[in-house]
Amino acid sequence: MSEELFREDSYLRECDATVVGMDAGAIILDQTVFYPQGGGQPGDIGTLTWNGKTANVVDTRYGEHGTILHLLEEASPCPAVGDNVHAALDWERRYRHMRMHTAMHLLGAVLQYGVTGGNISAEKSRLDFDMEDSVDKEAVAAAVQKLVVEDHAVSHRWITDAELDAQPSLVRTMSVQPPRGKGRIRLLEIEGVDLQPCGGTHLRSTGEVGQLRIGKVEKKGRRNRRVNIHLD
Ligand SMILES: [Zn+2]
Repeated sequence: MSEELFREDSYLRECDATVVGMDAGAIILDQTVFYPQGGGQPGDIGTLTWNGKTANVVDTRYGEHGTILHLLEEASPCPAVGDNVHAALDWERRYRHMRMHTAMHLLGAVLQYGVTGGNISAEKSRLDFDMEDSVDKEAVAAAVQKLVVEDHAVSHRWITDAELDAQPSLVRTMSVQPPRGKGRIRLLEIEGVDLQPCGGTHLRSTGEVGQLRIGKVEKKGRRNRRVNIHLD
C-alpha cells in the first residue's frame, strides 16, 4: 500500500518519499501526493527529483494491492528502489481538476437526477444524467453560480460500514448510495448542499470554483442528458 496523502489534504503539492517498488517501469512510492485516475478524474502529472536528476510523471494509475503507479516519460531517468525522491505535482492542472470536480458536485446537486457517468479534465467536464426532461441551461448556470458565491464549506470524513448501518437516516440523505464491503467509506460533504461517498480531490469551499459556464447539453439516448461545463 502507498500512503495516499492527497486523500487527507488535497492541497499538498509535493512530498518527500522513498521508492519501494517498480511495476513495468512505473514507480511505487511509500507515500504520494499524486492522485491516481479514478472516479472520472484523471491521474496527476508532475515530476520526481533525486540526486540532481528529474523524471517526468506523465500519468498516475492504481496498481495491484492498493499501490499507486507513477508512470514515467519514456526518455526520463529512473530512480532505483530505496532512493529518496521529491515528488511534485503539476499543481495548476490538478487545481483545475479540483475546481471542476467540486463544480460537478454542485451541478449534481442542482440537477437532482441520477448520475450515470462523468468525466473531468482541466478544460472541460461532463456529467450524464438519467433524465428525459430538457435542461434549462441558464437556470442551471444561475443555480450553480449561486452555490459558488455562497461559498459553502467542503469537508470529508471516514465512516465504517457498521457506523453507516447504524444510521439509516444518514444514508437516506446521501445523493449517491455508498459502496459496501471495503470496511470504510470516505464521505464528502458540501455543507447544506451535498453529501455522498467520493474519493476524489476537492476544494476547501465552493467559492474557489470561480466562474464557470454551462456548455453543450447533449441528448445521448431517450433517458440520458449529458451536461458539459467549462471553467473561465
Ligand atoms: Zn467528489
